Amino acid sequence: MTTDVINPATGTVLTSVPSLGLAEVDQAIDRAQRAFPGWRAVAPGERARLLRRFAAVVEEHLDELADLEVRNAGHTIGNARWEAGNVRDVLNYYAGAPERLIGKQIPVAGGLDVTFHEPLGVVGIIVPWNFPMPIAGWGFAPALAAGNTVVLKPAELTPLTAIRLGELALEAGVPEGVFQIVPGKGSIVGQRFVTHPAVRKVCFTGSTEVGKSIMAGCADQVKRVTLELGGKSANIVFADADLEKAAAAAPASVFDNAGQDCCARSRLLVQESVYDKFLALLEPAVRAFRVQDPSDAAAEMGPLISAAHRTTVASYVEGADVAFVGNAPEGDGWWFPPTVLLAHSPGDRHWREEVFGPVLSVLPFRDEQEAVRLANDTEYGLSGSLWTRDLGRALRVSRAVETGALSVNSHSSVRYWTPFGGMKQSGLGRELGPDALHGFTDVKNVFLASGE
Ligand code: NAD
Repeated sequence: MTTDVINPATGTVLTSVPSLGLAEVDQAIDRAQRAFPGWRAVAPGERARLLRRFAAVVEEHLDELADLEVRNAGHTIGNARWEAGNVRDVLNYYAGAPERLIGKQIPVAGGLDVTFHEPLGVVGIIVPWNFPMPIAGWGFAPALAAGNTVVLKPAELTPLTAIRLGELALEAGVPEGVFQIVPGKGSIVGQRFVTHPAVRKVCFTGSTEVGKSIMAGCADQVKRVTLELGGKSANIVFADADLEKAAAAAPASVFDNAGQDCCARSRLLVQESVYDKFLALLEPAVRAFRVQDPSDAAAEMGPLISAAHRTTVASYVEGADVAFVGNAPEGDGWWFPPTVLLAHSPGDRHWREEVFGPVLSVLPFRDEQEAVRLANDTEYGLSGSLWTRDLGRALRVSRAVETGALSVNSHSSVRYWTPFGGMKQSGLGRELGPDALHGFTDVKNVFLASGE
């Protein structure tokens, strides 16, 4: 069986890729299982060298990978270059890990007690369509560095860059079977990662609904799981903030990648004393947001991923109170303009649910206490921002908002050397940063008796 891959900026078929059946997935898992003893035995310095070489080969193919993502996912060329560069950087960062996977020596009587960080075995990585390259790299780079072998399932809509990364790994000298791309359906390939006993961990990024079913499925084998799920992050603007700066920065914080970003600051909370002033500053910034052919270097936003997704996004705007909309091309492709909606209560559907499109909901608040209460009034807790000149308030609100990552007076994007992940129903576990590596190992304690 094959699946057509479509360019979302034109609606035309780019190519088709195999969609693997159960027997083929099992064969891939089997190969990964057989490759594991050899890969974990590769000397730390040599494993590090191979990962650095993999990073170098990604760098050599950066333009090709970026171009592939522009055509397959409609990402702007600027974003796509950053994304391919992120795979290189994450590989280089975790290439520093094999020689530093250090255990402890713990004082005991009658011998020596030491701990080892043992690799798990085969790790299954399930990737969504919104950031195909970075999310793949956040899983496979630390997993491989820790000595695991990897089977990776890209999203049905966006398999091309993952398939290319699999080829580049082989070109870099990563042994056969160590890193395999297994394209196909979530219900077949993804589910098999959950049910196959040789897969010892599943790293899932995607919707909260599917994430819950994966967590429940993994419980059956007490399988390790990392979940990176949905978000509905708040951007809180206090009256004492630099309003010009906050308004200028707000559009990109929610419309980047056409809003198909789990970290999108899609709920804008504005202190009521500056509400009108802030919306007046926001409107020209939204109207100026450049939505155009993603291969154009000036593009700030491309199309949505599919026709079906555009219908879903449009359903949130129907009947809502539209404050203003930006521009989008007409004609072929799944275009949708940046749209700002006024929420009339925290119960409004577009305020509560993850739209995953270029739609921003705005709600006023009275004071700090109410801002925190409204920001936390969601099952999600992934990201967020707050704008204030009051240092004490910045600290208090940062600690009070229940979210895995927060930025003050900026909308910082993800950095590969700092932790990323969600609180509440936005996820479980952390990716990136110094600690992610241990999500791909189990601690073993060994006691050696010294005898008489
Ligand atoms: P999705 O849950 O539909 O699919 C994600 C992946 O899971 C795809 O590869 C899909 O094929 C696979 N899948 C689907 N059903 C499966 C099943 N039953 N068993 C195993 N695998 C299955 O999500 P999506 O629509 O591709 O992605 C959008 C969602 O991802 C959004 O909710 C977004 O917030 C979330 N997301 C979260 C993060 C994060 O880091 N927290 C990052 C990006 C996207």
